[in-house]
Order: sequence, then structure tokens, then C-alpha cells
Amino acid sequence: MRLGEIPQEKPRHVLSFDVEEHFQVAAFWSVARRREWDQLGSRVEHNTRKIANLLSEYSTKATFFVLGWVAERHPALVKDLAQQGHEIASHGYGHELVHTQSPAQFREDVRRSKHILEDLIGRPVVGYRAPSFSITSRTEWAISLLIEEGYRYDSSIYNRFRSTQGSTESRSGTYQLETEAGTIWEVSPSTMNACGLQLPVAGGGYFRLFPYATSKMFLKNLEKQGSQLVMYLHPWELDPEQPRMDGPVLSKVRHYLNLGKTEQRLRWLLKDFSFAPINEAIPPIRDIFEGLGERSHAIV
Ligand SMILES: [Zn+2]
Repeated sequence: MRLGEIPQEKPRHVLSFDVEEHFQVAAFWSVARRREWDQLGSRVEHNTRKIANLLSEYSTKATFFVLGWVAERHPALVKDLAQQGHEIASHGYGHELVHTQSPAQFREDVRRSKHILEDLIGRPVVGYRAPSFSITSRTEWAISLLIEEGYRYDSSIYNRFRSTQGSTESRSGTYQLETEAGTIWEVSPSTMNACGLQLPVAGGGYFRLFPYATSKMFLKNLEKQGSQLVMYLHPWELDPEQPRMDGPVLSKVRHYLNLGKTEQRLRWLLKDFSFAPINEAIPPIRDIFEGLGERSHAIV
């Protein structure tokens, strides 16, 4: 039976992971320099495999946005995730924020990661998520380049703390973007409207900050409205043992808060709600994969 054909009472939410090392997050760039990355102890494979095992306990698949840098160093991990039926998408190659790159550098980064991932899994990789959701109004050019490089959907626009009034700036959920290069689907992480602002509630930071009961209440409310959560976590968020790095105080608080609670909360979440990868839970993206003949790979 195909996952997509299981009769579902509950709406299926999206679970996604940005696969990167704990020292590659933007908050620690001043202390973990790019040139030192290969000398720092790798934890990403262990942590990602832990997540894959946990997901299999709950018969759940997810989308993994994998960094090309990580895929080069851990090819078996990427192959195994794909073989287990998870969706592999691109997190770019070197975890450079979009606005710190020229268009040519960005093109090279997204092209390189796509090739590395496709070579490993032997299938098209059509989804992209920028480091730290760094496609904004000042880097809109990036969307055209993604289309030109063969990406069919993007998940990099996160309208955090935007006003709920207004047009494109306040969009959330799944919608189509039109450019001179063509069209692409945008799959934005979920926000919650409160006090005229879009609060970013879809990430691991909020999942770790608030008690599970808060996340559960939010999801129940979303389901009542017939909406779908697009959630993202990082493998390092399930790793309370990771070495502590020095950095700005606020960054340290954000990064290390409640790391020991993520796994249990994720278990509760998977027990209480139904999750699937982007290429199954979001109809237009599912259609793209069906068009690519890719759905057969998601059969379990
Ligand atoms: Zn990232």
C-alpha cells in the first residue's frame, strides 16, 4: 500500500529536518570557522540515524534537506535515508546565507548540492531550503536561479514577525511564485497569527521552548481550521550531549535550550498527530513527484 493511500482521519502535517552539523548553525559562525569544520568532531550522522530510527518506530517518513557538504562526507547516510522512503532535498552545499553570496556563487552552491545528492540517490532532487531561511525580499533573484537549476519547490521563505496585513509579504503555507524564469512552488514553514504578527512556531526552537501541551494545542487548533503544519527540526536538536561552543549569550541560550527534551516531545508529537514528507503531504508537490515517476520509491 502506498503511504498516500492510507485512509487518513487526521490531516497529515509536514515534518522536515535540515541535515547539518551542530557547528554549522549561523549563530556559531564566529567561533566555528568554515576552514575548521573538518577538524571538529562530526555528530550529524549519528544524530540523523537516531531520528530515522525514531521515525521508523512510528512508521513515519519525513523530508531531509541535506547539506551537500554533509552528503559528501556521509554518503551512506543519504543513501540509507532515501532507501527507507524519506524524501531527500537540498539544503545547499556550504551553508552560506543567500544574501552573503553573489548570484553566481548561489547558483554554484545549489547546483553542486543537487548533483551530489542526485548522484547518491539516483533520483531527481527538486526541493531546496536555504540556510536560516535566507531568501527574503532582498534576495528574490535566488528564486529564478533555483528554477533555472531544476528545482521545483522552495521552502526558504519564512515570514517571521511579518505583519499579517499586506500581500505577498504575509503569505504562508503553499503557494506558487511566478518569475521570468518560470514558476516554482513555495512551501513556507507555518506561522501563527497573533497580535497582528506572524509568529514563527514551526521550528525546533519553539518546540523546545514551549511545553509539549502548547505545541499540541496549536496543532489541534490548526487541524480545526483545516490547516497543515510545516515543521522543521535539526539533528543537533536531539543531541543533548553535543560539545558546548562559545558564542553570543542569546545564541547559546537558543541553541542549547531543552535539548534533552526534544526526543520525548517528538515521540509524543508522532503519537498524537500524523506526519509525512513534503512530497506526500502537499498535493502540488506530490503531483510533481508523480510526474517524475518518483512515487513508486515511497511505497512501503
Ligand atoms: Zn541550516
